Amino acid sequence: MPSKSTRRFIIVDDSTIGEARDRQEETRPRKRQRVDEDDEEERKKEEASSAGARLVCDPDYYKEDGNCVVRVDNILFNVRKELLLTSHTFADLLEGRRGVIDGHPLQLHDISVKEFRALLFALYFQPEDGRLVALPLDHTGAEFVILLATISHKYAFQEIHKWATEILEHTASSNPVFMESCSSATLSLMVDVAVQCGIPHLLSSVVDKWSERVYHKSTPSVPAMQAADKHELLSLRGVAYYVHVQDMLDRQTHTPEGGGTQLRVDPKLNNGQVMRLLSGYCSLVSYWERLRLKPLELPHASDACTVDAHLACMATWERRWMSAVGWKRILGYNSADILALLTCLRDQLSGDEELKKGTTPECRAAGLDLLKTHAETTREHLSDHFFGCI
Ligand SMILES: [Zn+2]
Repeated sequence: MPSKSTRRFIIVDDSTIGEARDRQEETRPRKRQRVDEDDEEERKKEEASSAGARLVCDPDYYKEDGNCVVRVDNILFNVRKELLLTSHTFADLLEGRRGVIDGHPLQLHDISVKEFRALLFALYFQPEDGRLVALPLDHTGAEFVILLATISHKYAFQEIHKWATEILEHTASSNPVFMESCSSATLSLMVDVAVQCGIPHLLSSVVDKWSERVYHKSTPSVPAMQAADKHELLSLRGVAYYVHVQDMLDRQTHTPEGGGTQLRVDPKLNNGQVMRLLSGYCSLVSYWERLRLKPLELPHASDACTVDAHLACMATWERRWMSAVGWKRILGYNSADILALLTCLRDQLSGDEELKKGTTPECRAAGLDLLKTHAETTREHLSDHFFGCI
């Protein structure tokens, strides 16, 4: 029998499918006052959704000593009510429900079976010293703790959330071996949980490690670009886009006659990301073109060099700079690889005999230090180049 209202499913996000009757319901807050009408509506919904599904007791968490039956999808859990009441969200949900029995369990719609089992695992976990402790993580364990951190936040189990986030923070900041071997998917989940739950220390640890790995190419750039764009993480965006531009240029082919570049971009990137990538390329090339024609001003080591002598220092510095930027070694880099170009330029100038002869040693050293600092600052601000179009 078709119901009066039209039921349809909506995709809430990549991993969640929700049920809605109309647009109004999609925007209605999930937490509602428990009034008779809502109870009736919920019962109808349960009946409708269970029509084709056989209810099954969970093998681990349908406990004999349980006094609260909860249904998630078609799985029934029977657990100790006092454990659930440690969350004020569950306290609200259970308030006023008398004698919860199998025939009318508390049904949860916005949690998966896997997530609810993870919560119950933590609620039933009884460490010997009475405290939840940080455990060394393997990859499966990490995914579990990330899941737990997310779902305990959503359902306000504060102790569990604190425990899970402490493990993640400790791992991200103090376990470099694990962080080096993490997949992009796990790093992305860690970023998600840090953003959703507002854990800045975890976020900065994961982003720093991820940026470093992308820069040294021990992990691919595209997932880092996706995560950076999703959460507006500027430092990760800068490094990930920068590395991707260099790799992209290496993969291009050219037409044999006119030498035109047949641009290929990663199909996982959307149009906005491609635009950001190309504008970044343009910005980096333009930056190098300005810099190679206008040398950084040589600092004056006034303790060791007079004002007049420094005029000669500066003239030599500019002359050798202009010469070095045309050397074969520098020309071997593409013009968008600004960090490699700056490193190479410093390297060339530090070994340049004419620069040694034509400057006081202290001014020369200050100039080389300036180039090093300039490269570091440029790296820190890479995201400036990938702003996109104004
Ligand atoms: Zn000088």
